[in-house]
Amino acid sequence: MPNVFENALRQLERANQVKKFPEDFLTLLHQPQREVRAHIPVRMDDGTLRVFEGYRVEYNNARGPYKGGIRFHPETDINEVKALAFWMTLKCAVANLPMGGGKGGITVDPKKLSKTELEKLARGWMRAFADILGPRKDVPAPDVNTTPEIMVWMVDEYAKITGDKSGAVITGKPLDKGGSEGRGPATGLGGFYVFDKLRAYYELPEKCAVVVHGFGNVGLNAAESFERAGHKIIGVADSRGAIRKIDGIKVAELIEHKNKTGSVVGFAGSESITHAENIISECDILIPAALENQITAQNASQIKAKFILELANGPITPEADDILFERGIPVVPDILANSGGVTVSTFEWEQNLKGEHWGEKEVLEKLKKIMETEAQNVFTKSQELKTDLRRAAFILALERIQTATEL
Ligand code: NAD
Repeated sequence: MPNVFENALRQLERANQVKKFPEDFLTLLHQPQREVRAHIPVRMDDGTLRVFEGYRVEYNNARGPYKGGIRFHPETDINEVKALAFWMTLKCAVANLPMGGGKGGITVDPKKLSKTELEKLARGWMRAFADILGPRKDVPAPDVNTTPEIMVWMVDEYAKITGDKSGAVITGKPLDKGGSEGRGPATGLGGFYVFDKLRAYYELPEKCAVVVHGFGNVGLNAAESFERAGHKIIGVADSRGAIRKIDGIKVAELIEHKNKTGSVVGFAGSESITHAENIISECDILIPAALENQITAQNASQIKAKFILELANGPITPEADDILFERGIPVVPDILANSGGVTVSTFEWEQNLKGEHWGEKEVLEKLKKIMETEAQNVFTKSQELKTDLRRAAFILALERIQTATEL
């Protein structure tokens, strides 16, 4: 597998080929401002002691406090967390939020832990990093395999350590614990708003056939948003496999099936296919919504989608980007397409700091406005510079970070 942090830096260099940024500024952006590792001991249910490796990377805070989720995954390592923290820096700038970029994680398969073990681990992560976190310093959130419940354990641990009960140190909390309305669907729905703004510029059918690769928080909410707007979901994958149903998958029924069986596989009336087949399915829109490096030089030439909306972080390698560009398949980059999540996270942080609670309508209207404005800004930049949407989004973000850095 390509090293994702190297991929991220190559994306930076490729953007710099289109618009030159000062050497010193690029030198600063080639590594995080701070990366911290911790060894987190957990007494397991059987009495044994296990030590897990945890991370927090604070990439850049020129525009505001570090912001970025915490990933629990067996393949998470420092390189992945660095890449994700770098992308968060750019993402917050693309969405024009008053935030910098960071990311955290633990190398663990949370599905193999009991609930008690998971809670001890989550609290252990917070104890390890509490001194560098804070509402005005570094504000984590959920990511792959971390849930609102895990955020509650963490925010509770932070309150015990510091006495700060504002909740503003962590976003993605449940509503009754200071969470924001609209945070659940924010990433998938925000991605839909971006697509809907840009679709007029591309020759896409009125009603699109959509394939979603990944059916967690992001994939599921994206599928619901596209279905609600009249598009048809024809393929879905999760970690256990993939399904295809050309006449359309009813998303609510698929959620019910997944809740019952633990997977999308075996959904009534669907055909079972492989992950690889799902990615190269015949469709109008492909939505990668799982992990990194799903579209590489190996499969990019076989992609049949007319348009790709990157809701996962880093699902396409730079080599695959070139192949897709040559083939005329537009890619809406992650740092724009999935920025709805951090946007509503930032609303949550703002509400916690002010002691307010905004209604769902207000939150979603604000989200839509930001997504549409920045989708337009990225598209306009791509036209001005005659480049793809990824380079355009990078350049827009880099200009904003550069200004903040110089100021
Ligand atoms: P999640 O844990 O809720 O869901 C991940 C999904 O991917 C699950 O359905 C899982 O079964 C599936 N999956 C895992 N490995 C797979 C594989 N090899 N092939 C196909 N499917 C696979 O995570 P999430 O929060 O939905 O995040 C998904 C992606 O979106 C990640 O890249 C994450 O960094 C990014 N993202 C998430 C948010 C957010 O608000 N949650 C915001 C921005 C970006």
